[in-house]
Amino acid sequence: MEQLIRRAAGILARSQRLVVFTGAGVSKESGIPTFREAQEGLWARYDPGELATMEGFRRNPRRVWEWYAYRFGRIEQVTPNPGHRAIAALERYLPRVVVITQNIDDLHRAAGSSDVIELHGNWRYYKCLGGHTGFTRADFADQTDVPPRCPRCGALLRPDVVWFGEMLPAEAIERAFAESSTCDAMLVVGTSGLVQPAASLPLYAHRAGSPVIEVNPNPSDITPLADIFLQGPAGQVLPKVVDTLATITPGQETGFPAACG
Ligand code: NAD
Repeated sequence: MEQLIRRAAGILARSQRLVVFTGAGVSKESGIPTFREAQEGLWARYDPGELATMEGFRRNPRRVWEWYAYRFGRIEQVTPNPGHRAIAALERYLPRVVVITQNIDDLHRAAGSSDVIELHGNWRYYKCLGGHTGFTRADFADQTDVPPRCPRCGALLRPDVVWFGEMLPAEAIERAFAESSTCDAMLVVGTSGLVQPAASLPLYAHRAGSPVIEVNPNPSDITPLADIFLQGPAGQVLPKVVDTLATITPGQETGFPAACG
């Protein structure tokens, strides 16, 4: 493992355009459950068709609203873990680090990452079924309706997160594909690689000839194309990678061919 970490740090040390692509796993050590892990995953206990689709919301808006209120209440209480902080710390050593995340928890920014592309929205924002966007809780704090109504048109409000079957925010996914195709290395952390189109981003980096480093306690759908698989929890593995990176002078590492892309 130590040798793999050194090779990974060597790739990072040479990177001029790094993309870090993250999923629910990076936030697990902060206490936010992942979606798909059989034992603990949210979907093992709840039906995504009822709770994370527009059809489910139309059938029972109160249930969906209350479920998100419960989840957001948990998110509100957590803080970034050593994995998020290590990703943010990469900016101290590398000229350009773009984080692309499937998470809605905002923990990368809280940890200090400065360029974060959110593919699935952000828990702090709400939109209405009438098409108005950009609301926060303060905008409906005085309402007793569940769900509350749009302050502008009276339509139902919903979380501004991407539900199953919905399009990803166009600007975010376009930029994510562009960054993934032009990065010179990609670090993939804590994603099962099952939710498309986000899951295909590592393929774009790989096809462009850029090394892909994966951190995950379990092999994922991305593992077969990873050049280096660092098996373990992000909060334990990533600080070691960054500590090793801190000891490397760019260009001196010989364990892996120069990053290109
Ligand atoms: P996923 O649940 O499908 O996969 C989670 C992955 O994380 C698994 O491969 C698992 O092995 C790995 N993992 C578990 N513990 C880890 C750790 N300590 N360190 C690193 N990896 C770990 O999640 P996904 O791939 O992100 O895709 C599913 C959807 O879940 C996404 O659409 C995302 O929007 C949503 N989601 C987001 C949050 C959040 O905002 N924090 C939480 C749950 C789900």
